[in-house]
Amino acid sequence: MIAPNTKAAGSQFSYLTHLECSSCQTVFDPQRIQTYCPDCQAPLVAYYDLEKARAEVDRDYISHQHGGMWRWHAVLPVQSPEHVITLGEGDTPLLHLPRLGAQKGFSNLLIKDESLNPTGSFKARGLAAAISRAHELGVDKVVIPTAGNAGGAMAAYASRGGMQSYIFMPRDTPVANIKESRIAGATVILIQGLISEAAGMAGEKARNEGWFDVSTFKEPYRAEGKKVMGYEIAEAMNWTLPDVILYPTGGGTGLVGIWKAIQEMAAMGWLETKSYPRMVAVQAEGCAPVVRAVDNNMPFCDFFVGAKTHASGLRVPKSFADQLILQTIKESNGTAVGVSEEAITAAQLELASVEGLFVAPEGAATLAGLEILKQRGWVSADERVLLLNTGTGLKYLEQLPD
Ligand SMILES: *Cc1c(COP(=O)(O)O)cnc(C)c1O
Ligand SMILES: [Zn+2]
Repeated sequence: MIAPNTKAAGSQFSYLTHLECSSCQTVFDPQRIQTYCPDCQAPLVAYYDLEKARAEVDRDYISHQHGGMWRWHAVLPVQSPEHVITLGEGDTPLLHLPRLGAQKGFSNLLIKDESLNPTGSFKARGLAAAISRAHELGVDKVVIPTAGNAGGAMAAYASRGGMQSYIFMPRDTPVANIKESRIAGATVILIQGLISEAAGMAGEKARNEGWFDVSTFKEPYRAEGKKVMGYEIAEAMNWTLPDVILYPTGGGTGLVGIWKAIQEMAAMGWLETKSYPRMVAVQAEGCAPVVRAVDNNMPFCDFFVGAKTHASGLRVPKSFADQLILQTIKESNGTAVGVSEEAITAAQLELASVEGLFVAPEGAATLAGLEILKQRGWVSADERVLLLNTGTGLKYLEQLPD
């Protein structure tokens, strides 16, 4: 029996019920450390008792709480408040871009600015969730392969939780990512090659030393942290949603996560709209496995040989969650678009000089992608278009022209 005044927050801290393989639907126990489905080599997806949450949790009560990402603890995996490891992630601003919108021919251009997160990128959300949950389940050593910002975020949250961390990074990762990881106490191994090679080494370390591998989608909870962006977007728009969301896609955690959040909100009766956004994966032309798969109507991605882009977060030749990414695009009537290195840099300069936003090249890529979609007639002038800026431009200073 629930006391009336607990209805608002819910009778449970988390409504997590089980994990399920995204491919064969086998159920996995969420009260144990889990990685991915060994049979399918596919990600596990977290499920919650949304019926119960619908009855017990009040979205407006959550809106009146302070506390960033963890306001949404009912739909996050951590089971008790004392196991939340936080640096203040979440609650990033959703800003209108009236001047840039007018220049580009959009009357409703928005940006969600994730650069304000701890460690300067939205990787903080995913790693706050994954590291907190791993720590809750007794993990004390973690390992990650990263193309950039995930390393810094993992190192920070691991240190905050008193855990040891180990990072495999390509040698040409932005220097800020290397230094922020080292100063946070991580052991950083620089490798010749891409994140795919780094992933192999991290996996080996995990198997041989028993360290927990928090690679994108190789554990179930980074996507849960990132999905909260979807809750925050709906909340900021009075429980409606944009018409189009452009997401700079590497591993695809946030793309899949935001779409998942929308399904969850719908199931809990939290949305005031039945109109869902078309989800767009923006990639660099130099590493565009998702664009190729969408263009060729494929249900999976081929490994993108010779991947090359200065937007390091997009340098992922094949995501472990390629099928989930493509499903999200298909279900949402979205698409994928590739942009050039020059267009990324030009968009970065425009966002900074016109609207004062010094965004990461990955975030800038979404503006470049929007221009291509407008030329194609895929998006119209009066649609509510949301760009996702995933990180701060300050970490990429050495790549900017003088
Ligand atoms: C990691 C990263 C991305 C890509 O995010 P995924 O969820 O892996 O697709 C985009 N931008 C920045 C700044 C990143 O660090
Ligand atoms: Zn499976």
